[in-house]
Amino acid sequence: MSLTYIHSAEMRRKVYIETYGCQMNISDTERICTILAEAGYEICDNPSDADAVLINTCAVREHAEQRVRGRLDTFGAVKRHRPGVVIGVLGCMAEFHERAFLERHGMVDIVCGPDEYRSLPCMMESAFEGRRCACTGLSIGETYDDIQPMHSGGVRAWVTVMRGCDNFCAYCVVPFTRGRERSRPLKSVVGEVERLATMGIREVTLLGQNVNSYRDGTHDFADLLRAVASIDRRLRVRFMTSHPKDFSDRVIAAIASVPNICNAVHLPLQSGSDRILLAMNRGYTSAEYRDRVSAAREAVPDLALTTDIMVGFPTETEDDHRRTVELMEEIVFDAAFTFRYSPRPKTRAWGMTDDVPDDVKTRRLEEVINLQRSHSARCNRAHIGRELEVLVEGPSKRSPADWVGRTETDKMVVFPHGDVARGDYVKVKILAATSATLRGVVVRNVTHPASVQESAVV
Ligand code: SF4
Repeated sequence: MSLTYIHSAEMRRKVYIETYGCQMNISDTERICTILAEAGYEICDNPSDADAVLINTCAVREHAEQRVRGRLDTFGAVKRHRPGVVIGVLGCMAEFHERAFLERHGMVDIVCGPDEYRSLPCMMESAFEGRRCACTGLSIGETYDDIQPMHSGGVRAWVTVMRGCDNFCAYCVVPFTRGRERSRPLKSVVGEVERLATMGIREVTLLGQNVNSYRDGTHDFADLLRAVASIDRRLRVRFMTSHPKDFSDRVIAAIASVPNICNAVHLPLQSGSDRILLAMNRGYTSAEYRDRVSAAREAVPDLALTTDIMVGFPTETEDDHRRTVELMEEIVFDAAFTFRYSPRPKTRAWGMTDDVPDDVKTRRLEEVINLQRSHSARCNRAHIGRELEVLVEGPSKRSPADWVGRTETDKMVVFPHGDVARGDYVKVKILAATSATLRGVVVRNVTHPASVQESAVV
């Protein structure tokens, strides 16, 4: 039975959706918008106009949950003035806390986990009739493959190619909030990207919690990358997040040989200590991580490499921490997301004593942040004087006189607005760099090199 509700134009209820957490959540929100629009709801930009406020949440750290609870307090105050407003909590926090969320938060009407978004129209109808509800079943097959996301504009788009994770890293809630790994068929991903390309999208990022373990029964992730990149050679193709144990030579060969697969890889390290990597259940040693980096850098010399580092995992000693710092010094990442360990219920590490004192975690975190800042600045300064190809994204949020774009290696470039348009490829001469950004001037518009090759073939 189709869950489609048709409201007449004057009955259309407005829904405001706020999204927290990773790109997967942003991509999920685009599909939720489609599900609700097809059910007759209007998506709006302002919570004060909305009949329903939905928060798509992240549960990966306690801090992320606190931010959502703060927003719920704000929306709860709105609801006291407008009692008819429906408030829904979606995504990982919904899955993590299930029905208990309704009991603990009296203002919440809907609790909907990541595999239950098709039920949202039905849940909304119930909530508007005063019945609070929770749907948090996890599926082994749901990929929302048939639902075209409502793209939110711009020149870049995110395309979820697989969901869930089977790795069970000791600190991570994802296998509990997003369930087991499952991949979309290659043909369907290609169809979605073809549609995005005709809409003027110039860059797609293929998303999965563990994207390198993509398998649709016939094809692996290297096949998918090549297939997507062949749709339009002017389309940049990125992917995240890779897992070091699944980052195969076939994927590296695809990056090296296909010009529009970007030379940028996010490869989470987490720790440089083999003892801690084992305790984290990461499935690789520091030597195996080094081997993947060497293979990738040998095949793709101008590769930009970014990572995740976690400090203060249970039992982490000064010696373990020193190994992380030494490996960072050896590899020199272009950028890193750095975190302090935060215990999460349900995970394996929840049963371990969180024995690294707070002040020690803070000091270790500061050390890796400062080291990474100096490495990012060094990597970025190496571009000064070079002309880099930049995909123009639009005006800078900080200064209307400037525009911003990105290099193939995912570096943000700021330049004075000249005769350029959103979606253009331009050559920018880099004049200055900080740890976060490059600054330069446009020297010319370019035809994407790969499109020249293609037209030569035609
Ligand atoms: S690979 Fe590990 S850290 Fe990443 S989502 Fe899976 S369990 Fe979490």
